[in-house]
Parts: sequence; structure tokens; C-alpha cells
Amino acid sequence: MIDYHLHVVAHGDRPMTVENILAYCEVAKERGILQMGITEHDRYLEAIDLAAFQEAREKTDIGLRLGIEIDFVPGKEERMEHDSTALPYDYVIGSVHRVEGEEVDRATDQRIYERYETYDLYEAYYANVRKAALSRRFDVLGHPDLIKIFCRFPDRDITEMLEETADAVAESGIVVDVNSAGLRKPIGEIYPSRKLLEMFYRRGVPILLSSDAHAPGEVGAGYEQSIPLVSDVGYREVVTFSNHERRVLPL
Ligand SMILES: [Zn+2]
Ligand SMILES: [Zn+2]
Repeated sequence: MIDYHLHVVAHGDRPMTVENILAYCEVAKERGILQMGITEHDRYLEAIDLAAFQEAREKTDIGLRLGIEIDFVPGKEERMEHDSTALPYDYVIGSVHRVEGEEVDRATDQRIYERYETYDLYEAYYANVRKAALSRRFDVLGHPDLIKIFCRFPDRDITEMLEETADAVAESGIVVDVNSAGLRKPIGEIYPSRKLLEMFYRRGVPILLSSDAHAPGEVGAGYEQSIPLVSDVGYREVVTFSNHERRVLPL
């Protein structure tokens, strides 16, 4: 098994030392995770300690990978280009957290949900997801339906919106992040939902698995739900990366 989206520095919670990285590896090992990818938020790029990463990689038998999670914001191409090529990453995750520059997943500020009609907000969100995939700037699409995080649902059916998004994702060739962090949020559900995951599966979209851990204890969290989900939908393998090259591992 793999855990390909997690944060050691997280939101500035701890420095990226060899010791801190190895604390994550310890939990990974206990939970049967063979490969672990560290993907800090782009705004913590400066906190990524490549030397510590390399030293930790030599000290652990977990296959350590280095990635980054880029906050996809149309109009910020120069910053995204810089951050996604600044280090020798194995892969780059592109995640949509914002609609018109405002975060949709901020627990302390949900005003954006009051300001827009929910259906319009979902439309704007998924338009950004399609743009992120089709930009072909990223290897992986992070938590593709993050917008559901606070259980604010549109009053109209969004199946068509999701189908259109799945089409764009399939066309782009990007790998989808099946991310268990949603289980720890108000929605209490994996990203993506089963419905959206089935749409991806029908179109042959590959996946990887992640916890989006922000602390060592969260490595591999929720896998007792995400593994049965993806296998029930039909998936038999997950994608791994090394220097942007894809391989697959059986589930
Ligand atoms: Zn994210
Ligand atoms: Zn993340």
C-alpha cells in the first residue's frame, strides 16, 4: 500500500527534520504502507529540507517520495510553474482549494458559502478542477470534490457537472488522489465520493491512495474504508511515481 499525499511541515507545525520524517515512516510501517510521498503545501516550499529528506530516505525501508501540493489558482501560472519545478520532485499534486481566490475549506471562514448560491459555487469549483486537470501541469489531481467538505449541497442535481468533470479528467490523463482526509471533516466521506469515483473508473482514470496526514498518527488513516471502496468500485491497482515516471502496484 502507499500513502502519497501527506504533510510533515503541515501548516508550519513542525520543521522537516530527519527525526520528524522518520516519525511518519514509523507509523507507515506499522500500517503496512510500503511507499510514502511527502507533499507539502506550496506556501511551505521554503520549509522543505531536501537534505533531511534524502537522509531520512536512506535511514528507512519505506520507499520515500518527494512531491508538492500546488494550490491551483488560474492567473498564478508563474508561481505554480516556479513551485512545481523548484525541487527534484517525484510527482506534483494539483489541488483546487479556491473559488475566485477564496478558500472553500477553511473551517474558520465559510462566508464564501453565504456569498454565492451553492450551485454556482459548485459550478465554479468544478470548472477549476477541469482547468487544473487540463492544464497538464500536474501528475495528480488532489481531493477532487473538496467542495463537499462542509456538507453544503446544491438544491439541484449535479450529476451532469460531475460527468463533465470526469470527462476532462480522463482526457487529461491525470491520476486521481483518493484521499481519506474527508473522513476527518464534517462530510465524513472520502474524496472523491463513490459516485464520482465510479465515473472515473468507467473512463479508465488511474488512482492513488492517500491520507492527507498533517500529523504522524494520521498516516494511512481511514484506509479501512478507502481500500474496500476503491476495490468495490473495480480498481485493482494504484499508481506510484518516481521522478515523474508512473508504475503500478496491486491494491
Ligand atoms: Zn489540499
Ligand atoms: Zn494536502
